[in-house]
Amino acid sequence: MTDLVQLEQGIRDRLIEHESLVDALLQEREQIRGSLFSRFAACGKSNCACAQGEKHGPYYVLSNRSGGEGTFIYLKEDQVGRVRELVNRHRRFRKGLKRLKGLSTRLHALFEKYESSATLAGFRQAGI
Ligand SMILES: [Zn+2]
Repeated sequence: MTDLVQLEQGIRDRLIEHESLVDALLQEREQIRGSLFSRFAACGKSNCACAQGEKHGPYYVLSNRSGGEGTFIYLKEDQVGRVRELVNRHRRFRKGLKRLKGLSTRLHALFEKYESSATLAGFRQAGI
């Protein structure tokens, strides 16, 4: 019986954790999936300083891979801060989803233990 009470407490604790995680995930209404990087480039003009190694930039690029196909978007300077924030937000979201999966797995395992204990209790109650 105490086993069942402890299991119930464990399950309820996971559910509280689960709910607050779901709440947090549902707050992330805007996010960008991709990665942000900067690059420097040469323009190709032979009389330009970049031909001596002093390249132009940084240029900020948002890269995005979906379905094996990569896309690159060049950002304006005033977009970089916001995009970085949204990219980080997506990263946090993915982390949260991973945690959610782990929690569900643990919850399921606890219920299986609960099932075993409850079955033993059922036998005891039936006197068999
Ligand atoms: Zn140049």
